[in-house]
Amino acid sequence: MIDGVGHHRVRGVWGFKQWQADVWARFFKMMSMETPAIAWLDGNILALADAKCRVEDRGFLFGDGVYEVVRAYDRQLFAADAHWLRLRHSAQGIDLELPMSLEEIAGIAENLLMRSGLRDAEIYVQVTRGAARRNHLFPTNTPPTLLIWVQAPRLPSVDLKATGASVVTLPDERWARCHLKTISLLANCLAKEEARRRGCDEAILVRDGWVTEGTSCNVLLIRGDLIVTPPTDQRILPGVTRACVLDQAPNLGMAVVQRPIAVGELFDADEIILTSTIMELMPVRVIDGSLVGAGRPGPAYRTLATAYSELTHRRLPSPS
Ligand code: PMP
Repeated sequence: MIDGVGHHRVRGVWGFKQWQADVWARFFKMMSMETPAIAWLDGNILALADAKCRVEDRGFLFGDGVYEVVRAYDRQLFAADAHWLRLRHSAQGIDLELPMSLEEIAGIAENLLMRSGLRDAEIYVQVTRGAARRNHLFPTNTPPTLLIWVQAPRLPSVDLKATGASVVTLPDERWARCHLKTISLLANCLAKEEARRRGCDEAILVRDGWVTEGTSCNVLLIRGDLIVTPPTDQRILPGVTRACVLDQAPNLGMAVVQRPIAVGELFDADEIILTSTIMELMPVRVIDGSLVGAGRPGPAYRTLATAYSELTHRRLPSPS
């Protein structure tokens, strides 16, 4: 693995060695403050609050870019290879050439993580088609903008995991290439906001009567020992967490069926589980005002969530 940071400019305190970064992170923890986010932008390492890019950047003007969110547990990126491969797949899907190899991107992310001093972290990686005179047509000879930052993770609420989330079904108004992780997330944001306005934690999106996914998570339905989940086509993001859970299921005595799910099936599922890198596994308690199963996290959730937690903390290899 190459050192992706050695030859880049470092601003402020971020030139620290590992032990200095650790002292820094401990200091913030002692003061009950969040360790400030640290970013890599165009070869500079700086505090995220100081990172600036041009207003003509096509990410800003057109939402023309792709991204990834990776979690680190105990100083190790989790399932990183799966995330980097998806980043490349998303970039290829919008005809965007990554400005460097996946190895180099991984090297920068790992180095930033080390410099942050954080044991547990959230890593955001975004590539846009760069800054050029505004024009719908792709610019020529314009380098993509690569932004990577590391910050303390948004930890999923322990209380919500204990009780289960409340969810509303909403129409899936997104575009036809939801398998690509693009930064054009307005339809996702509108649905998430609508869920919040209705007093819910998340929306499950429905297209033509079929369940697709959440605004920022995948959906698993549990029926006895069976996990049912929509197949990975252009209507959903192939979630890394989803893949980890499905991979482990057979070892836990559960079978997996990937098939379209009619919206009505949500209402007689034994359990519904949402999955994402940030949420990990989240049980659903209520859907459109009706209790799911017994109205509390069920046995399948407990089994799968325990196994996932072991996976993240033992740092087993990423899913195939
Ligand atoms: N679907 C959507 C629309 C998402 O934004 C996310 C979060 N990235 C997911 C599914 C879950 O993907 P992952 O498990 O890789 O985080």
